[in-house]
Amino acid sequence: MFDQVEAFYRPRTIRQAVRLLHEGGKRARIVAGGTDVIVEADPSIRTLVDITQLGLSYIRKVGNSWTIGATTTMAELEDSAAIRGLAGGILAKAAAACGSVQMRNMATLGGNLANGSPAADTAPPLLALEASVVLEGARGRRTLPLAEFFSAPGRTALGKELLVEIVAPTPARGGRRGWAFLKFGRTESDISVVSVAAGLQLDARGACKAARIAMGAVAPTPLGMPGAEAILTGAQLTAERMAQACERVARDVSPIDDVRAPAEYRREVARVLAGRALRECAQQAGVTL
Ligand SMILES: Cc1cc2nc3c(=O)[nH]c(=O)nc-3n(C[C@H](O)[C@H](O)[C@H](O)COP(=O)(O)OP(=O)(O)OC[C@H]3O[C@@H](n4cnc5c(N)ncnc54)[C@H](O)[C@@H]3O)c2cc1C
Repeated sequence: MFDQVEAFYRPRTIRQAVRLLHEGGKRARIVAGGTDVIVEADPSIRTLVDITQLGLSYIRKVGNSWTIGATTTMAELEDSAAIRGLAGGILAKAAAACGSVQMRNMATLGGNLANGSPAADTAPPLLALEASVVLEGARGRRTLPLAEFFSAPGRTALGKELLVEIVAPTPARGGRRGWAFLKFGRTESDISVVSVAAGLQLDARGACKAARIAMGAVAPTPLGMPGAEAILTGAQLTAERMAQACERVARDVSPIDDVRAPAEYRREVARVLAGRALRECAQQAGVTL
């Protein structure tokens, strides 16, 4: 494993890390927690750039958003009172669902997103929160909505860049709101067969003012469900409406067959899991369906 690696760097600044990435060309790879890079063990890699000493492990309130440094670990997210209090704790719940305790002590939020897996557990809650990612390369920084970051399995908008931080706007508190994150995997510590994050905001009469639904492991990238959201938004929240929205989820996903599950099973689980998540949100908002 990695017997072709010739250089391992541990830079102290983002600028140094970006320079090393450029110097290493196609054969250089960033390593954060290493839980994906080391398992993948790509034999073409000659240079590893460890980014864990760049000071990118933080969770900060900046204005009306939470800003999370890329090397913040899953364990830090799940233990953070701020992240547990953000939108019903959907991001903390997703972090707590990532593999074993040992994995979560190593695995970083940035690595989970930058790896580009359709099953990345932190992606659906961050999509539901309409988060953005901040990337830094030789030409400076740019900010991108997370929804535009994923392009294909294992592919993202990252060029020779570092994912520096993730910015999650704080949804308003109070009123009739609910949030849910649910993961369905083969075992407690397995990668998702399907995951879902959802949020509902209702008005005083029980009509849906806003709906957010995002899914993992059901398409080439983690993705939002605007069709299902539109079915709910503006309508009275009834069991029939919810069922229509879940049917739309099942239509809009494009799962694959793999070792974990056949595509048609995933489609059905997507429908069922979206329904459970929406009912959990509705219940928090004071509606039992
Ligand atoms: C046994 C096991 C169980 C797992 N279970 C789960 C699970 O339940 N849910 C889940 O979602 N994942 C799971 N994973 C996958 C993995 O643990 C996560 O994706 C993890 O968050 C990756 O983070 P890392 O810091 O270890 O990334 P690394 O392995 O260090 O890096 C992953 C990729 O991202 C790049 N990268 C990392 N950080 C940055 C950055 N800041 N900027 C640019 N590029 C970067 C690296 O170059 C590499 O290509 C599991 C993995 C294993 C081995």
